[in-house]
Amino acid sequence: MATGKINVSVENIFPLIKKFLYSDHEIFLRELVSNATDATLKLKHLTSIGEAKVEYGNPKIEIKVDKEAKKIHIIDQGIGMTADEVEKYINQVAFSGAEEFLDKYKDTGKDAGIIGHFGLGFYSAFMVADKVDIITKSFKDEPAVHWSCDGSPEFELKESDKTERGTEIVLHIADDSTEFLEDARITALLSKYNKFMPIPIKFGTKTETLPKPKDAKEDDPAPTREVDNIINNPDPAWTKKPADLKEEDYKNFYRELYPMQFEEPLFNIHLNVDYPFNLTGILYFPKLTNDMNIQKDKIQLYQNQVFVTDNVEGIVPEFLTMLRGVIDSPDIPLNVSRSYLQADGAVKKISSYITKKVADKLNSLFKNSRGDFEQKWNDIKVVIEYGMLSEDKFFEKAEKFALYPTVDGTYFTYGELEAKIKDTQTDKDDKMVILYASDKESQHSYIEAAKAKGYEVLLLDSPIVPHLLQKLETSKEKISFARVDADHVDNLIKKEDTTISKLSDEEKEKVKEQIEAVLEAHNGFTVQMEAMDSSAQPFMITEPEFMRRMK
Ligand code: ADP
Ligand code: MG
Repeated sequence: MATGKINVSVENIFPLIKKFLYSDHEIFLRELVSNATDATLKLKHLTSIGEAKVEYGNPKIEIKVDKEAKKIHIIDQGIGMTADEVEKYINQVAFSGAEEFLDKYKDTGKDAGIIGHFGLGFYSAFMVADKVDIITKSFKDEPAVHWSCDGSPEFELKESDKTERGTEIVLHIADDSTEFLEDARITALLSKYNKFMPIPIKFGTKTETLPKPKDAKEDDPAPTREVDNIINNPDPAWTKKPADLKEEDYKNFYRELYPMQFEEPLFNIHLNVDYPFNLTGILYFPKLTNDMNIQKDKIQLYQNQVFVTDNVEGIVPEFLTMLRGVIDSPDIPLNVSRSYLQADGAVKKISSYITKKVADKLNSLFKNSRGDFEQKWNDIKVVIEYGMLSEDKFFEKAEKFALYPTVDGTYFTYGELEAKIKDTQTDKDDKMVILYASDKESQHSYIEAAKAKGYEVLLLDSPIVPHLLQKLETSKEKISFARVDADHVDNLIKKEDTTISKLSDEEKEKVKEQIEAVLEAHNGFTVQMEAMDSSAQPFMITEPEFMRRMK
């Protein structure tokens, strides 16, 4: 047997990066804009703690595409790099200056919003470029430098005459990547990945129409001017405090997220936690419509305001993937495979936190505005019922607010229903029998017959409900569900019903007629025959629902 050392040559690393580092070549722009953002946020932090004695100003990041020269420029006004720093941060592959910064400024820097992680983002430039230039001037009083590399491990470093603080990255786009020289492609990428990044990002200019001056003639054209085309909203709603947001702000943000979705969301859940993990976000219960763009309008996952994916599988439980909105967490590992994500401890905690928040919000809506909750039930029941079916923790919480509508449009929680029927709707095994219809019309006569006997009949018409009933039957000891048109509905009994009726059917009918005659004035009361079988309780008069409510 022999042991040895595998020899990894640096020469091999660029082709590897190009092929395997990221499955999507398009993320190069996300990575470079993230670095530009980090550089700007670092400067912001250093000026705020007095370590950098320069004017922070109103920095922005600019993207320029030069189709003719086949170049893309990413220009920032951030912290910049000295020659030594280029050596340290750029020439050392997989050394993350972002992590170093966070280590150094542990206490004050942790909320600076720094994005970088692995020290690999910069090299994603070589997925689309065959040569990359970095022209950079540090905020420190040192000469600007120009680094240049054509993808081989050799690089060139010389002085530059750049005078403004900050960094310019120039990508010489490779022949197999010229698609990225199209304005439309870059616009689409920026709005996908950078739409909510914290520093303004400029891509070209746009024409803005100004109001006409007062003395303008009617057919004078409105004046216009060229302004920066800023592609992002640096302060998206989820980064703000819930207390600073109005209902309207949440709705506007929904429209910003899903411009093609015209239905308003039903309600939102603002997520905000910083221990034991960091997570913010806003989730919406959408109004389900047929033309909903299920493919496109999904929950979006961000990391420090950088879009990562809209495949949140594993991060929220499956039943919540039907929701819409944004989750932002620096604690969700990026760039790693799905199977890793699902096994990750932090991700599991995040998933159960979100489940709990959703349940809490539903519970408070139910408690504080039940009427509204009942009205929305039809739109939200799929999510809730599916959640109850698939997640036991959610089931426990949802039992308090999950609603069961009757054929007459009354909504019971399970507890309310149980209290109402536990003594009046049982079978011979002493099990509470919950009657339900799945279709009001075809089961009409059965429904009427059951109602005439004073039974409650639920209207359960969602596709998930039969499975949920099964789960309830197995989790509760003494209940069973029966379709209103099933045979044994006729055999239901009351708890006290132990003696066999001494009256014949004919006699019962007579007594019933007599009682009803007496009660005639009280239109709407019904007399239940079955009750008359009991010796302790000779008969039962039931009031219609609405009369009790009027009292
Ligand atoms: P990470 O962002 O994970 O630290 P990157 O490979 O993306 O790793 O970048 C490596 C380092 O290079 C950064 O941490 C930073 O120190 C430096 N750097 C990259 N781009 C810039 C920039 N535009 N301005 C200043 N420094 C930069
Ligand atoms: Mg980076």
